[in-house]
Amino acid sequence: MTGLAERLSAIDASIADAVRRAGRETADITRIVVTKFHPVTLVQELYGLGVREVGENRQQELSAKVEALRQAQGPGFEDLRWHFIGQAQTNKAVAIRRSAQAVHSVDRARIADALDRAAFDDAILDVLLQINLTDDSDRGGVAPADLERLAEHVLTLPTLRLRGVMAVAPLDEDPAAAFARVHDYAERLRGVAPDATWISAGMTGDFAEAIAAGATHLRIGSAITGPRPAQG
Ligand SMILES: *Cc1c(COP(=O)(O)O)cnc(C)c1O
Repeated sequence: MTGLAERLSAIDASIADAVRRAGRETADITRIVVTKFHPVTLVQELYGLGVREVGENRQQELSAKVEALRQAQGPGFEDLRWHFIGQAQTNKAVAIRRSAQAVHSVDRARIADALDRAAFDDAILDVLLQINLTDDSDRGGVAPADLERLAEHVLTLPTLRLRGVMAVAPLDEDPAAAFARVHDYAERLRGVAPDATWISAGMTGDFAEAIAAGATHLRIGSAITGPRPAQG
């Protein structure tokens, strides 16, 4: 096995352990491999290992990889699902929508509107509301107090499907406590959008805590891909 294959199966084994300990089912968990800063060849290798859910946090890098795969020889990558997990700017909405099947970082009405206006065929875009777990309003994410209002707005947009919540645990908070809060916010969201059941939480350092707190979508990068190459 290559290093990549070994790391992927080791992480999947850890996920399975955490799922068992939480009394949950692996079928309820989607493992997204975050490929940021790595070349598109890594995405191709992951595809060969069966990975179909991948994530990027920068629009330009996302667009470049999707375009490279469209032009690549060999097997089609049509069933790859791209998750955009970075801060989204309204002037990038068209480009994001052309490349991603899901956007985890909707945190204000204006970006939701821009993504809706950027619809270009009959496809519906899956969106999650990113919640800011810190007191720093410069961090991405909607303030918890504004969650329902934003959800109600997104529900009026015909080309978006509201799927759930996303959060990143703050560096200065125990991830279990942070994800317990996310679990409560997810419940609040279901109060206005009963079908919005996804909880995108958990990265390399805290996915076990996220699984224990009900995460459905894990965003795991470096533990699978290896250390990120220096940013060019
Ligand atoms: C980079 C990134 C991840 C993955 O981080 P790792 O610690 O490498 O697993 C997850 N979520 C977001 C929003 C990211 O930007």
